[in-house]
Amino acid sequence: MRKPIIAGNWKMYKTWDEAIQFVEEVADKIPSNDKVDAVICATALYLPTLVQMQAESDLAFGAQNMHYENEGAFTGEVSPTQLESVGVDYVVLGHSERREYYNETDEAINKKVAAALAHNIVPIICCGETLEEREAGTTEQKVAGQIKAALAGFDAEQVAHMVIAYEPIWAIGTGKTATADDANQVCGAIRAVIAELYSAETAEAVRIQYGGSVKPENIEELLTKEHIDGALVGGASLEPASYLKLLEAA
Ligand code: 13P
Repeated sequence: MRKPIIAGNWKMYKTWDEAIQFVEEVADKIPSNDKVDAVICATALYLPTLVQMQAESDLAFGAQNMHYENEGAFTGEVSPTQLESVGVDYVVLGHSERREYYNETDEAINKKVAAALAHNIVPIICCGETLEEREAGTTEQKVAGQIKAALAGFDAEQVAHMVIAYEPIWAIGTGKTATADDANQVCGAIRAVIAELYSAETAEAVRIQYGGSVKPENIEELLTKEHIDGALVGGASLEPASYLKLLEAA
């Protein structure tokens, strides 16, 4: 069985004090990671402190982006080497906001996935369609293309340890969630792509999250679905009580 993974994506929210207070509040309430992988993806600025605060706990941390180079003249960027050096375990790659506002390409995301693996950071690879694509019936085609591009060049063993997040763009921050059946169908299509590229065994091992207006009220139904192994959550991960409820649902 695949272990659920619930990741909060804080995006560009929370002051320093708010971040520290959040972690203090949830610290002794995180379920065992035998049961669920609990992750918070915070601004890179706070990660070293948050990782140290939680060194003994089952709460893990992730970055929301990174460069694919280890070092260099890339003003304003954060490298995989730097993230590894402060103990970061996960990185969100190819979020639709990065693709849309910062022109991230499939090619760059593929290089970032390679860089994450080289530094023992688990990539959470995002994919998803726009409303126009959904209405045109091209959702699965779009998502399959993004996944094939992101996974190009890796072997089955590497792919088995990755996390994929299916986030329909029209459901992000809008309050509109895909129905659990629709989300499951696309997550199943992603698994089928992996089975075709690698093997049924690899496809069975990969964890696929759903993201887009996930909240305590809808997470349980999503998680009952065969192909949904967790959630990547924006707004509902910002409050401790809400985040803990998401974890409890897993
Ligand atoms: P919301 O949960 O706020 O819709 O955000 C989803 C998301 O983009 C997580 O990465």
